[in-house]
Amino acid sequence: MKKYNFNAGPSILPEFTIQETVKAIQNLNGSGLSLMEISHRSKDFEAILNEAVSLFKELLNIPEGYSVLFLGGGASMQFCMVPYNLLNTKAAYLNTGTWASKALKEAKLFGEVVEVASSKDANFSYIPKNYEVPADADYLHITTNNTIFGTELHTDLDVNVPLVADMSSDILSRPMDVSKYALIYGGAQKNLGPAGVTFVIVRNDILGKVKRAIPSMLNYQLHIDNGSMYNTPPCVPIFACLQTLKWIKNLGGVSELYKINKKKAELLYNEIDSNPLFKGTAAKEDRSIMNVCFVMEDKYKALEDEFMEFAKGKGMVGIKGHRSVGGFRASIYNAMPVEGIEALVAAMQEFAKLKA
Ligand SMILES: *Cc1c(COP(=O)(O)O)cnc(C)c1O
Repeated sequence: MKKYNFNAGPSILPEFTIQETVKAIQNLNGSGLSLMEISHRSKDFEAILNEAVSLFKELLNIPEGYSVLFLGGGASMQFCMVPYNLLNTKAAYLNTGTWASKALKEAKLFGEVVEVASSKDANFSYIPKNYEVPADADYLHITTNNTIFGTELHTDLDVNVPLVADMSSDILSRPMDVSKYALIYGGAQKNLGPAGVTFVIVRNDILGKVKRAIPSMLNYQLHIDNGSMYNTPPCVPIFACLQTLKWIKNLGGVSELYKINKKKAELLYNEIDSNPLFKGTAAKEDRSIMNVCFVMEDKYKALEDEFMEFAKGKGMVGIKGHRSVGGFRASIYNAMPVEGIEALVAAMQEFAKLKA
């Protein structure tokens, strides 16, 4: 049976990425050696890393003056690296979910943290608007896509202080204006590659302003100076990311991908809104085009486990909602084909015919 992978992360990757990575693991560029056993200082790997950086810059139109890094430690390491490198006295955080809360908690180790707004009162089902950012904050930290709660900021904010964004689960899903951000980071394992590598896009002039000493491995400037090669980088995950970037370019770039992503999300949300059994959990204007959260209407609540089994029988994988929301979550990242959404929608319709 064909499987449709709706896992939240690690998650679906393009078939191209997987095939090319398998080939390189067996024999890189006909060298007779595996990607896993070559030196990260070799010409072959240097070319891989350089191409990944330049393709990232090309696909997101990253302006001059920014660096692209591939680091270890996951997005969670960035929760501490960001304040370590950028927080002098005060930082502002927009609290839109579990990951945003975790980022905020780490920042408190480094200085005063102002929570400018939070949607915790409504189980993070919306993105707060109309809040004030202290003009003397070193930066404002946002989470553009809330993977667990299925809400997303659909525009690039204009703010009066440097803007830092966790884009783990929506990077490359839509065209964006990188020039509005001082720093963007994310774990690769949602939209880009396998777990084990973290991308960081940083405006160089934001660095070097904090007074504290920074340990080498947590110092952005040192990683920039060494081209992500201060120590051994995660070579295989970086290679896989490069394949995904190539796949996006072949598809016509991020704006083409965005058209497909919007269509996919619309298809699924339309079904959720029109199917008598289901309802969405996120505020409509803030609905994510990457993570679609939905539950069963109260009077059908008891059928959730049955639908899970029903959908599983039709090839759906990973649609169980996160425990903090319940119900279902379909993660429909860049690599999810329209066909996967159509299969899920068909399963929802068929189940409704049986039960409603
Ligand atoms: C998954 C996720 C994280 C955590 O990523 P790790 O690489 O596991 O540390 C952080 N932020 C967001 C928005 C995520 O989706």
